[in-house]
Amino acid sequence: MFAFMGLLVNNPDHGFCRDCLTLQRTVAPRCEACGSPRLLRHPELYRLHIAHVDCDAFYAAVEKRDDPTLRDRPVIIGGGKRGVVSTACYIARIRGVRSAMPMFKALEACPEAVVIKPNMEKYARVGRQVREMMRALTPLVEPLSIDEAFLDLAGTEKLHGLPPALVLARFAADVERDIGITVSVGLSYCKFLAKVASDFRKPRGFSVIGEAEAVDFLAEQPVTLIWGVGKAFAATLERDGIRRIGQLQRLDRADLMRRYGTMGDRLHSLSRGIDHRTIHPDHEAKSVSAETTFDTDLATPAELVPVLRALSEKVSARLKKAGIAGRTVVLKLKTQDFRIRTRNRQLGDPTRLADRIFQTGLQLLEKETDGTKYRLLGIGVSDLTDAGRADPPDLVDVRARKRALAEGAIDMLREKFGRAAVETGYTFGKGRNAHPPEPVDD
Ligand SMILES: [Mg+2]
Repeated sequence: MFAFMGLLVNNPDHGFCRDCLTLQRTVAPRCEACGSPRLLRHPELYRLHIAHVDCDAFYAAVEKRDDPTLRDRPVIIGGGKRGVVSTACYIARIRGVRSAMPMFKALEACPEAVVIKPNMEKYARVGRQVREMMRALTPLVEPLSIDEAFLDLAGTEKLHGLPPALVLARFAADVERDIGITVSVGLSYCKFLAKVASDFRKPRGFSVIGEAEAVDFLAEQPVTLIWGVGKAFAATLERDGIRRIGQLQRLDRADLMRRYGTMGDRLHSLSRGIDHRTIHPDHEAKSVSAETTFDTDLATPAELVPVLRALSEKVSARLKKAGIAGRTVVLKLKTQDFRIRTRNRQLGDPTRLADRIFQTGLQLLEKETDGTKYRLLGIGVSDLTDAGRADPPDLVDVRARKRALAEGAIDMLREKFGRAAVETGYTFGKGRNAHPPEPVDD
């Protein structure tokens, strides 16, 4: 129960207007004050405090903001080397353009689209502005990527004089007015469902999933809604005749773990709407890295690759120990004449695996081994997040998946018997087909 504007908010019918924030005293379909139809009502509206905020078609929205002539035109952000769609605006999406779609296919679907090369520096700047506005709401902001974050607004009522739901609605309106782009908000009691909710009614959405409805709501949903269940794992479940989350709800934990290993544990919890992960603000480390300066300068892959491997192992061990993961792999080189080269690549999902860090670093290093002599090599990851989201079991590349499984097994043995007990032998130069997916954004 929450006292707000002289009313006691304990009546589920007392929703509010997302445009003027006026509390509603009736169940009329439009706001009593401004006539807007954007009303929010939910029995748990004033109790929930875990939110996921996601900018709508972020890169495209920034470009449209900066060039008003694009407003009513289909806009695709993408191109680049691999030629895929990073972001499509909603007009382009209506024509069938999707994130990660090859550009030629996108242009088949929507030949009149305006294609713009991504300007990551600009998007990062706008992303930081949005994040600053989030941090004014609560210190508990956990960014997931450039344009989305989890927020925990527990205990902020006194600070704002409003319950979290209203604070978030006001925030969404402020972002539109001050930054010129739109966001979608998901409000729930846990991270999993807050993220599901924010995706529900994009763009300019605000969806609420309460505790009382969670199990029934999930029962109807496809298994792919569960984080970590991608195409490959969904196919495994499909072979077992499982398509809906409701089918998982009927299986007990032991059964699920016997069938699907540690993923079974996650399926058991999340299918029932149980998710105890807390929100970790990213105020400490911005990246985890390791580097080494050579005794004599090195130039050839044969010399550099083993160093990269060893450093990747080091970074991975530190990530695993801290329970975190990173989404961007950063390679650092210092040339003989002290020039620093940094190269980075964003992964589709965060990693803490030595093998993924190494393979990505290797792709970056290959382009730099052009005869230049280096005195220093470093590898690291940034865009740090909670390890709970790292390395979903359905990596597209089968060999990468096998190596990830092997690495997990080695980690378990090391935990049990000590690091020296398990030494790995690697063959360099193999398994380079594990291309990380291009960054995409919704
Ligand atoms: Mg987004």
